[in-house]
Amino acid sequence: MAWNCINCESANDYQNVHCEVCGYERYFSIREVNALLAEQAEEPSDVKKVQASYKRVNTVNKKLRQDNKELQDKINDLQRFYDRYAHEVERREQGLRQLRAQNRRLGIGMVIGGLLVLLFMLARVKVEFIF
Ligand SMILES: [Zn+2]
Repeated sequence: MAWNCINCESANDYQNVHCEVCGYERYFSIREVNALLAEQAEEPSDVKKVQASYKRVNTVNKKLRQDNKELQDKINDLQRFYDRYAHEVERREQGLRQLRAQNRRLGIGMVIGGLLVLLFMLARVKVEFIF
């Protein structure tokens, strides 16, 4: 679209920024400026798609960061819990091992005692038979 110089009123090609005749700078009307701005505002659909997927990925990223933070908090809680009670758990396991060993010794003792009682009774039966 040609434009007319506001200085000398010569018709100029739309690509020229200055008047071909007098060199005066091209004057853009407010309507033309608005048209150019509107043209720039209309972005190609590819850019809009990229922006949409960027927003989506950004949202997912925020969500993941939030989840990660919550998990990290839970891990920290568990670590604190473990640090507080690890010693106690170890102590109880030690006690349990001692009880098991004691139990085994008692079991063996009872078997031996039972055998001794049995032998003693058999011996008495024999003794009674003899007398
Ligand atoms: Zn001119």
